[in-house]
Amino acid sequence: MRPLEEPAAALARLLDLLKPVSTEHVDMADAFGRVLGHEVVADRPSPSVDVTAMDGFAVRLADLPGVLPVAGEVAIGQQPPELPAGATVRIFTGGAVPADAEAVIKREDVVENGDSIEVPAGLAVEPGQHIRRAGENLQEGELVLEGGVAVDSAVAAALSTFGFTRPFVHHRVGVGIIVTGDEVLPPDSVPTPWQLRDSNGASLAALVASVPWAEVITTVRQVDKPDLLYDELEEALDRCHVVLITGGVSMGDYDFVPDVVARAGADIVFHGLSQRPGKPMLGAVGPEGQAILGLPGNPVSVMATARRLGVPVLRKLAGFSRPDPPPPEARLADPDDQNIDLWWNRLVRMVEPGVAELVPTRGSGDLVSAARSDGFVVIPPGRHGPGPWPYYGWGIR
Ligand code: AMP
Ligand code: MG
Repeated sequence: MRPLEEPAAALARLLDLLKPVSTEHVDMADAFGRVLGHEVVADRPSPSVDVTAMDGFAVRLADLPGVLPVAGEVAIGQQPPELPAGATVRIFTGGAVPADAEAVIKREDVVENGDSIEVPAGLAVEPGQHIRRAGENLQEGELVLEGGVAVDSAVAAALSTFGFTRPFVHHRVGVGIIVTGDEVLPPDSVPTPWQLRDSNGASLAALVASVPWAEVITTVRQVDKPDLLYDELEEALDRCHVVLITGGVSMGDYDFVPDVVARAGADIVFHGLSQRPGKPMLGAVGPEGQAILGLPGNPVSVMATARRLGVPVLRKLAGFSRPDPPPPEARLADPDDQNIDLWWNRLVRMVEPGVAELVPTRGSGDLVSAARSDGFVVIPPGRHGPGPWPYYGWGIR
């Protein structure tokens, strides 16, 4: 048997085959959290003129030290007055610095006497001090940002300052969730002891709901009948950019997902990865470029594979230029000496910044231990010890 492909390599191959969804013009308030689809070029220098970074007094260096009459005041948002030789003007943070001023002295560094100030002899005043120069952040026409980033608080500020009131953002990624299994009932049902309530549907919906750049379009449950699964998949492919299927992806007699995905005209990019949990996972590209992920049905497999591999797939479609950015790392406070020959997603709880402890678990069906964890670390095949290891929290950015 051919060795199983590494999850990161398989993911990279799949990401290469996927294209971002299209963009639309929206009002700024609708852009928040979504992915910017264009670059931002400065329409004016930043700042646009020399401004003061402090409240204080604008001066010429030749006039220092000594007593200076206060000749006037810079009104913020207005063209500054002239600075007469031998005098000073009062200035407030963000105010434009008069043309002949060479420095700003902080208010607390002078003695104020009504209509004059005294600059003490010992005070060191550097040329340009407390002056933010026109264009020091960026000149007009320079690139502020490439696209492919979420409109977060910093990006929203940059868009606004350069006059982008109706940015182009990518459409939200539409996600379809198909939960399979003859034994799986809706969460509000009373199962027999041989059945269970669906937890995967809510688990995936919660993951998608945690990002503003994707939305669940449809969630369905279906029994293990190939024709019924095929119909569900076709419908989801019609309506969604990404289809997440749980269960039915392994080698059992009732695992129809791989056949159904192939029958829908999708290209299967990988099936089976060297990871635990989640070994039978499948990744495919649908006929219209949709991403299809078949996730093994065990609840912790679904959570871990959706978090580790599903999120980058969603991010790629959402338009992020970095679909799979490096995760933070966590060191294990209590490492054991267990190791396996697969990439091992081990449940952890964070105890201090960058430090985690293992959460005891019975395996991929143990959603109780998962609920008590913050996420997982990914330990490479054959390795053990404190790490640090890449850490994936259940909450995503
Ligand atoms: P499968 O991948 O279909 O072989 O399912 C693997 C295991 O996950 C079985 O024990 C299933 O009962 C369980 N399982 C499958 N789907 C769900 C679900 N939606 N919620 C909870 N457990 C599930
Ligand atoms: Mg099943």
